[in-house]
Amino acid sequence: MPDCLFCKIIAGQIPSAKVYEDEFVYAFRDINPQAKTHVLIVPKAHIASCADINGENSSVVAHIFEVIPKIAECEGLKNGFRVITNCGPDACQSVKHLHFHILGGEQMSERMA
Ligand code: AMP
Ligand code: ZN
Repeated sequence: MPDCLFCKIIAGQIPSAKVYEDEFVYAFRDINPQAKTHVLIVPKAHIASCADINGENSSVVAHIFEVIPKIAECEGLKNGFRVITNCGPDACQSVKHLHFHILGGEQMSERMA
């Protein structure tokens, strides 16, 4: 296993507030929420970032985007939500395991950067 924070969270070696889990993905609350609701969804298989998605692993990304609306509904995000993935240094990606931020529960800024 790579020395990766999110791989350790998925493995249960580091505690997290689980929101959803299935065979392929794990979702949990961000430890430093940037909106009233801030959930992270990650593939269980280690993919370093959005730049590493390819024909061999993209099915899990499709699955993530099928699960996101279910999480949004469970979280009561009836008025919308934002999905973000940071990729690489310019985007300030701090954890090198592909993850999608699901943000909502309040009116967010029009600015994204
Ligand atoms: P990024 O900056 O896009 O790489 O996002 C990484 C996210 O992981 C940040 O929003 C952090 O607050 C979050 N994070 C870091 N450590 C933990 C942790 N132990 N449990 C939950 N979220 C975490
Ligand atoms: Zn990982």
